[in-house]
Amino acid sequence: MHNHTWQTRLTQRLSNQREAGLWRDRPLMTSAPAARVQVNGKWLISFASNDYLGLAADASLAAEALALNADAGLGGSSASHVLAGHHLPHHLLEDELADWLGVERVLLFSSGYLANLAVQTAFMQQGDRLIHDKLNHASLIDGALLSGVNFKRYPHNNMAALARRLLQPNACLTMVVTDGVFSMDGDVVNLPAMLDALADKDVLLVVDEAHSFGVLGEQGRGSFSHFKRKAKPNVLRVGTLGKAFGSSGAFVAGSGLLIDTIAQFARSYRYTTAQPPYQASFTRAALRRVQQGDHLRAHLNRLITHFRAGAKALGLTLMPSLTPIQPILLNDNARAMRWQQQLWDAGFWLPAIRPPTVPEGTARLRLSICANHTIEQIEQLLLELQKCQIKDGYGINH
Ligand SMILES: *Cc1c(COP(=O)(O)O)cnc(C)c1O
Repeated sequence: MHNHTWQTRLTQRLSNQREAGLWRDRPLMTSAPAARVQVNGKWLISFASNDYLGLAADASLAAEALALNADAGLGGSSASHVLAGHHLPHHLLEDELADWLGVERVLLFSSGYLANLAVQTAFMQQGDRLIHDKLNHASLIDGALLSGVNFKRYPHNNMAALARRLLQPNACLTMVVTDGVFSMDGDVVNLPAMLDALADKDVLLVVDEAHSFGVLGEQGRGSFSHFKRKAKPNVLRVGTLGKAFGSSGAFVAGSGLLIDTIAQFARSYRYTTAQPPYQASFTRAALRRVQQGDHLRAHLNRLITHFRAGAKALGLTLMPSLTPIQPILLNDNARAMRWQQQLWDAGFWLPAIRPPTVPEGTARLRLSICANHTIEQIEQLLLELQKCQIKDGYGINH
């Protein structure tokens, strides 16, 4: 039988993917997204979710959301924000997010991916340049590529290198882009040094606070609050609502001039359907929990401290992270896969992260610790990690 070119091509690419060990399966969740979840039929303690404050499956939150939603319905929004899709819950949520952060304006998106395309494509024109941290999230990289302008990267969190890049003259617009908390390492952007480097420069700054809003700072206000800095009018912050908010969607926060530009010129804002109004009502209820969530953040920090102390005592290699993202460096891809499997069999879900998601030779297990975990679960996990070490004869503290 004769194969068409497209069949031969696709079959070849898929089998290469399998042979390289890069095939991605989708674990099937058959329970609510809580600390204990049923995955592919097996109950596990999950350290795989980004629901940092444990809000996603909170029953009373859903009830509050329904009350706030009033007559907005449970279906879709029916159109883009600039046509018939901008409903009252969206509008109220934007105002409440702006008040929480103390910014002029907030613009809601249906995902962080789309927001990260928008914050770059809306501003960049021919001759402009984008300067990124080397470890920025994939969605920020895609936004840079889609912008089609000069795109440069500096070594991770190296503000001296950023300052050197800024010395190169540029007649047009410059935008510096960074994660607030880096998604695979868990470390925080060196914001004080960055703001010093940018102080007398004519630049825009974008900070992606996907893993910092809700988690860091007073009332969960993110990296600027964490470092006790104010965001000036040249700063745009991107927040995602699918992580610490336990909801879905994203938003961009900043001055009126910046937000108007995005609303007028970002194609990923205009040419997509607004998120369902009920989703915005859920986020409104979640925002109150985030603001009043000091006890959740205190518990989260106790869990993080407990895990780090225990893992260090075992001799495991951690990364310099004080956030819920706690990678255990195992370096070798096969070892990361073995440990993931052994932990899974023992009832713990810790995803193995391998290249190309992280640099070659830095395969790791990536824990995300959430406020609905308990100290006992961390203790149990540490015991199982010790069993992995003994079985593997690796990283044992003598
Ligand atoms: C998750 C994530 C995004 C994407 O947000 P979504 O709402 O999931 O599309 C963007 N940036 C970072 C750093 C993220 O971790």
